[in-house]
Amino acid sequence: MLTEQTIPTPIAPQLRLTPAADLFAQRGRRLRQLAATHTLGPWLSWFAELCAAQQLAFERQAGSRSDDANGETTPSAPPSIPPARIAEIRSRLIPFLPTQAPPGVTRYPRFAIDITPSELTARLERNRLIARGEAIGAGRELEDLLIAASMQVAWSVDARQTATSNASAANAATCPHCGSVAVGSIILAGEGRAGLRYQECCLCATRWNSVRARCTLCDSGSVVQYLSLEGEYPAVAAETCDQCHAYTKLFFQSRDIQVDPTADDLATLALDVLVGEQGYARAAPNLLLCEGEAA
Ligand SMILES: [Zn+2]
Ligand SMILES: [Zn+2]
Repeated sequence: MLTEQTIPTPIAPQLRLTPAADLFAQRGRRLRQLAATHTLGPWLSWFAELCAAQQLAFERQAGSRSDDANGETTPSAPPSIPPARIAEIRSRLIPFLPTQAPPGVTRYPRFAIDITPSELTARLERNRLIARGEAIGAGRELEDLLIAASMQVAWSVDARQTATSNASAANAATCPHCGSVAVGSIILAGEGRAGLRYQECCLCATRWNSVRARCTLCDSGSVVQYLSLEGEYPAVAAETCDQCHAYTKLFFQSRDIQVDPTADDLATLALDVLVGEQGYARAAPNLLLCEGEAA
């Protein structure tokens, strides 16, 4: 399977890029870097610690699942992850969670290792709806975020271990691996891939190729505009659409090679405020956001 480091030619871009083996470690490093100079530094640092815990769980899952990954092409149906695996990953995250609550959270729950099956199922299903763009994140609690972090681990392991066809991956509205929507798009830099646009799945972090200057939400090509926070975050822009009056964010590697859609999205909530004031609605879910941060 090709990884994002081995795109063969700019003429025929890889339609799908599987998540990197150190996906969560990279994201955690990026969050730590962003936190160093950010007014929301302690809040971003909390997520950096969560990502470090996700990386440990990811490596354990990847190791334990390597035997049952057979590399066969699977049908196009989204993968099904047993709730028991989410519960197991969740229990592995808990000992490594930051001891301090994220700033702004007044009640920091003492997470029990075990969760009842019915609570797990309910929170899991709600996260799935948010990841598919079928529900908004209002009213989420830290437990929902912990389940979402566990789901990201499970689905990204699955995305790495399941060889699937690239057919119809390009310009898809949803992730060709798991059917979720994108957290945003990354514009790659580097020889042979400079300028290529990939949407990144908010759940499994699979990236799929999309054309530039086109609204990924409604497929409109002529009405997108770009808004950014002048001078503050040059690597991030909001792509707004006057057809569907919504926006998603673009993350430019050429302006900052370490940009990470999930991490940099959290660091640029001020851009969401700016774009919201212009009348555009946020369309991309970030599973690490609870209620209110982007309001
Ligand atoms: Zn996905
Ligand atoms: Zn649109």
